[in-house]
Amino acid sequence: MIVDRYLPALDAFVLTADEHSAVTSALASPDPWEWNPGGAQSIAIASVKTKIRDYHLARHDNKCCYCRVNLHGGGHFMTDREHVLPKSVANYRPLSYTMWNLSIACKRCNMEYKKNRTDFVVALNDASLLQEGANYRFIHPNFDLYREHLSRFAQEVDETVIVKYAVVAGSAKGAYTYDYFNLRGLEVNSFDRAQGLDTREVPGEAAQAVRSLAASFGQ
Ligand SMILES: [Zn+2]
Repeated sequence: MIVDRYLPALDAFVLTADEHSAVTSALASPDPWEWNPGGAQSIAIASVKTKIRDYHLARHDNKCCYCRVNLHGGGHFMTDREHVLPKSVANYRPLSYTMWNLSIACKRCNMEYKKNRTDFVVALNDASLLQEGANYRFIHPNFDLYREHLSRFAQEVDETVIVKYAVVAGSAKGAYTYDYFNLRGLEVNSFDRAQGLDTREVPGEAAQAVRSLAASFGQ
């Protein structure tokens, strides 16, 4: 059973009859995501892909589903439609247009870290578990609520920036996601390196740190 943790809900996603027909034809082809027969069907499949991107951007407030970097206004140079179970793996190719297996990610997370890996799946070939959040070692973009596992704090004023991640205490998924996508590599503290912020501090403490830094700027 799907446990959908975001809005708009996955089961409210709607395609036109033409779009639905194009997806059916694409899935019958050897490479469904790249299927491009030309003409009206290609226009329909392009429309489906745009709808998928916009829908998942809305579900994640225009943020990358893995690192929470803001994708607003970034366009296709910054944003990828993300297949959680990779479409390059034959077993998962039928899920190329399945909404629960799709999300939105930044190029860094998708192309540098996620790639075609499947090591984040606990039981790779048990179809009955693929819609269970517990079957994924990282924070699943549709089945897990990100903030229950990991928080990203950012404050930026001109050239001074602080970005910190805080794993929610006791969340194995939060810790796994932090490591899997090397989120440490995104952390910055140019406000005051003597603040002594600890990478794994609890969210409340990190939030307080960001508030006090903001206050020092008179915000
Ligand atoms: Zn990202």
